[in-house]
Amino acid sequence: MSRLFSQTFSCSHCGAPQEMGIVASINADRRPDLREAVLDDRYQRGECSACGKGYRVEPDLTYLDVGRGQWILVRPASHLAEWAPTEALAAAAFDRAHGAGAPDEAQEAGLQPRLAFGWPAFREKLLCAAHGLDDVALELAKLAVMRSARDLPLDDALELRLSAVAADTLTLTWTMAGGDLAVEQLTLPRALLDGLAHDVAWAPARAELTAGPYVDLNRLLVPADEAA
Ligand SMILES: [Zn+2]
Repeated sequence: MSRLFSQTFSCSHCGAPQEMGIVASINADRRPDLREAVLDDRYQRGECSACGKGYRVEPDLTYLDVGRGQWILVRPASHLAEWAPTEALAAAAFDRAHGAGAPDEAQEAGLQPRLAFGWPAFREKLLCAAHGLDDVALELAKLAVMRSARDLPLDDALELRLSAVAADTLTLTWTMAGGDLAVEQLTLPRALLDGLAHDVAWAPARAELTAGPYVDLNRLLVPADEAA
């Protein structure tokens, strides 16, 4: 089931009260249209009835796609600093719903639990599954980019996110976690991921990235002890 409810909030531009149908959980096996809308980057967008400007309501939902082996807890980008306690909640929620703590008929062997903050991070996980990319290797590739680049965008609010996948290349975009601002793009060879996935030199970083469902470079960049 994909659960929807109506939510009232203030327009981020003019403050006028707005209402939108918000989804609390997406079942992509039953509602492939919702998965498509996330991939197309058009989900939960609206236009203010008072000022006419576009806005997007942050995601706060659980996503299930048994066919592609995905379970994702998605939280608003503004909650990133709480990633450590949120990860513990995600692990517990997954265990209750589909893991060892779930009734036998609800347990799903092939599901991978993940945690994402904001639309670009959520969409990135769907892109990985859609194109058969190892999301851990993708995070290692970002780490490699950051270690080798000389002129990185320095704004703390910027994140490097996979934005497009072609036959031989991956496009990554420096973007605002909570918004649509795209600052800079770079292209990587897709084969880079296979190399990183099997390179023993990257094994320690790989172990750190996979210590919990929050498989994201931010777990190395955003201090967990800030989260309380
Ligand atoms: Zn407005």
